[in-house]
Amino acid sequence: MGDFVKRQELYDDKPREECGIFGAISATEPVGYLTYLGLFALQHRGQESAGIAVGDGRAMDAKRGMGLLTDVFRDGLPELKGDKAIGHVRYSTAGASIPVNTQPLKVGFSGGNLALAHNGNLTNVNALKHELAGKGAFFHTSMDTEALVAIIVSADKQAIEEKIVESMRKVEGAFSVVLLTDDKLVAVRDKFGFRPLCIGRLADGWAVASESCALDAAGAKFVRDVKPGEVVVFTRGGQRPESFFFAAGTKEAAHCVFEYIYFARTDSIIDGQSVYLSRIAMGRELARENPDLKERVDAVFSVPDSGTTAAIGFGMESGVPFLEGLNKNRYVGRTFIQPTQQKRDVGVRMKLNPVRPLVEGKTVAIVDDSIVRGTTSGKILKLLRDAGARELHMLISSPPILYPCYYGIDTAVRKELIASTHTVEEIRQYIGADSLRFISLAGLRRALDAGDSGAMCYACFNGDYPLWPKDQPDGRQAAESGETCQCRGEGK
Ligand code: SF4
Repeated sequence: MGDFVKRQELYDDKPREECGIFGAISATEPVGYLTYLGLFALQHRGQESAGIAVGDGRAMDAKRGMGLLTDVFRDGLPELKGDKAIGHVRYSTAGASIPVNTQPLKVGFSGGNLALAHNGNLTNVNALKHELAGKGAFFHTSMDTEALVAIIVSADKQAIEEKIVESMRKVEGAFSVVLLTDDKLVAVRDKFGFRPLCIGRLADGWAVASESCALDAAGAKFVRDVKPGEVVVFTRGGQRPESFFFAAGTKEAAHCVFEYIYFARTDSIIDGQSVYLSRIAMGRELARENPDLKERVDAVFSVPDSGTTAAIGFGMESGVPFLEGLNKNRYVGRTFIQPTQQKRDVGVRMKLNPVRPLVEGKTVAIVDDSIVRGTTSGKILKLLRDAGARELHMLISSPPILYPCYYGIDTAVRKELIASTHTVEEIRQYIGADSLRFISLAGLRRALDAGDSGAMCYACFNGDYPLWPKDQPDGRQAAESGETCQCRGEGK
């Protein structure tokens, strides 16, 4: 990236979602455009590259590129006016953010054309690639998605749904997938349901999306979530999609709790649970767990926007007024010139500025969703302190992050996670708060149990991984030692 760095690295200390996916099939509606609209609503899930593939039953056209959706499609959508389309927006680790790793991936095979877009991370990709290479496969990208495509097209079955069911039994890890063939749109979700995927009804067809907010944007009516371990096949003109299972699924469900804490949009409903109401419930739990603050603080602020909904919940439960004490500049560009150390602090000031009359002489609770490396909270608190705050009490709507994620989220390796190497008191001192309180794991569970989201993954808080990465000689040992998970480094 030369003199430029990712904007988020300057003043955000957040886990990174790695992708958003969308698909549409309709005989009469503009599927390429609907996919563009859906991806636009999913841009928060990835800003580094975007792509759309469109098929008309004979040919398939794909356009992919680096940057935001609006950058990539500045000059228009794929030229083909087809009846089915899929799309992808991507976040990656820096090393893999290159054009060859953009999606959807498109290949020709014995059955015609195939395009695939993936959100998640395979945990046995090395074993899969080894097996496929032994059969003569070549890999052109560093994406695990390429292994997913290769294993599907090489499966010893005729129909695409049979190929998918057969091959998905060999694939491990997190994968929500949309796949296009010449005559079908297919949605696939791994047996744990780590990453979200839902189905919507168009006026004359079907849509599939990472989040329900994208169905809304495309004018589709939410029908249901794709179940863990399910393959759903849509055909043009088909009144009902066909459903197949490659694993028992729901018994083992481990939906990512971070979708509710931070990643997903608040207007999305995932696996039956409203993201907005979940965050309100987390804020209420924070208030119940810290009753002393009710009498002590004059107001509750949020770190906008990620802490806002939980801060509102805190205010509702405690009776403390929620005020917008930090103004967020919404026009900060996607990249900044590489900062010197001095300019790094400018990054936070460019984005956030205290509203002085709300801060001067006040004792304030301030809510954020998470602390990963601990690089940003201190700068935000210093802004408030410099604006005259008397006391600052930091509230976090997730428990301390102690373990890395192997399922499609870029958190950090364990030794970079501040909570895995420091006590809460040490972190409090480091960020300069008068007090620092994380929601308890029990409190987080209570907040989510109020909904209907089924079994959740909490592994980054308690190390209870639903699935160990096969590519690690000993996944638990790697997590404990703080080493990088080899299956994750290159992303998709
Ligand atoms: S380890 Fe954490 S971030 Fe990863 S899937 Fe589980 S809850 Fe989500």
